[in-house]
Amino acid sequence: MQLTAEDEAFRSAIRGWLEQNLSGEFASLRGAGGPGREHEQFEQRLAWNRHLAASGWTCVGWPAEYGGRAATLAQQVIFHEEYARSGAPARVGHMGEELLGPTLIEFGTPEQKERFLPPIAAVAELWCQGYSEPGAGSDLASVSTSAVLDGGDWVITGQKIWTSLATVADWCFLLARTEPGSRRSAGLSYLLVPMRQAGITVRPIRQLTGTSEFNEVFFDGARTPGDMVVGTAGEGWRVAVATLAIERGVSTLGQQVGYERELDALIAEARRNGAAADPLLRDRLARAWIGLQVMREQVIAMLDNAGQPGPGAGADASVVKLLWSRWHRTLGELAMDVLGPSAMLAQAPPYDLTDWQRQYLFSRADTIYGGSQEIQLGIIAERALGLPRQPRT
Ligand SMILES: Cc1cc2nc3c(=O)[nH]c(=O)nc-3n(C[C@H](O)[C@H](O)[C@H](O)COP(=O)(O)OP(=O)(O)OC[C@H]3O[C@@H](n4cnc5c(N)ncnc54)[C@H](O)[C@@H]3O)c2cc1C
Repeated sequence: MQLTAEDEAFRSAIRGWLEQNLSGEFASLRGAGGPGREHEQFEQRLAWNRHLAASGWTCVGWPAEYGGRAATLAQQVIFHEEYARSGAPARVGHMGEELLGPTLIEFGTPEQKERFLPPIAAVAELWCQGYSEPGAGSDLASVSTSAVLDGGDWVITGQKIWTSLATVADWCFLLARTEPGSRRSAGLSYLLVPMRQAGITVRPIRQLTGTSEFNEVFFDGARTPGDMVVGTAGEGWRVAVATLAIERGVSTLGQQVGYERELDALIAEARRNGAAADPLLRDRLARAWIGLQVMREQVIAMLDNAGQPGPGAGADASVVKLLWSRWHRTLGELAMDVLGPSAMLAQAPPYDLTDWQRQYLFSRADTIYGGSQEIQLGIIAERALGLPRQPRT
């Protein structure tokens, strides 16, 4: 990726801002949060995110009219690199900033954009994603949560599951069946629903890490105004799929840059505890480093080629998802081997997991969320290799 003088100026602006601002009350937040550690200093991280927003460092890729900086692709890469490099804490508003925001920019009405984009950019409202249900995960078109119009409101009944961050979310973007009797992807609508109301119950699910990043969400006559549908009612599938494409694409960038820090920390640990002398572990560390370079190039190629026809068009995001999720899961396994038997022990009371133990356990989920690895392989087989479509039941 060729960087211009403007890009370099952008880099020094964000680098300088982070150096100056990750200090004082925010200094202790370095490295806080992240997968399996979402409970860490949540309120303080929220305050940090709002501070970031107040200086215009959220939603940098959004058009300026919606509160963004209209940053180019290269500048977005730079932003994520500098953010990860600085050790700034994990972001809290990514569902709104990276998933719903771009979806609304593409499909929302002017009123929806005006109502929802500014609070996302300001990190004043947090969002969760209500797609999966007990009977609809990989096969998302099996969604059965229903919504019917009643007195000008949508009334929603059903259950969502694995809903990340639902305990802290103010709003949920969800997929519901609005045409009774419709089947598969027809008759679904993409609704925006306020979370804090009597008709919604959020029940946290305890995960391997002992924490609850995701939840069950029960809708029992929950309500949202009739104009809270994104795109056309009954044609929500198109919108939902667009959000998924975003989830599997650009938004993974920041995450991946953070991996470099994890690998650096693991290499430092291997040097410290002598594991770096083990030829097999050295080999695996070197492979991890190579994997990181390949992944970075692949992401940049995907971003550069976005929208271009060519071999594999439409499967690029799946290749990237497959690469990072497998890489990160393998890194967790490597970390356990670098740490040796001590990886199996909890440290002194209160016996909290270490960061590496959390990384190992949580990264088991990487090949599941955002579309499982089997689903990504299916997409690559069909779209990149032109193999016959998998039989649908
Ligand atoms: C940490 C985490 C956070 C999540 N956050 C959210 C969230 O915020 N919002 C949300 O809506 N969802 C969320 N999810 C749910 C996630 O999207 C689903 O778990 C995922 O889509 C898989 O669906 P499932 O769990 O129902 O598994 P299933 O679809 O039942 O799959 C079970 C197994 O069968 C395989 N399989 C299924 N279909 C096929 C096929 N056609 N070909 C080959 N193999 C197949 C799968 O790969 C998997 O191994 C989250 C999940 C995790 C783990």
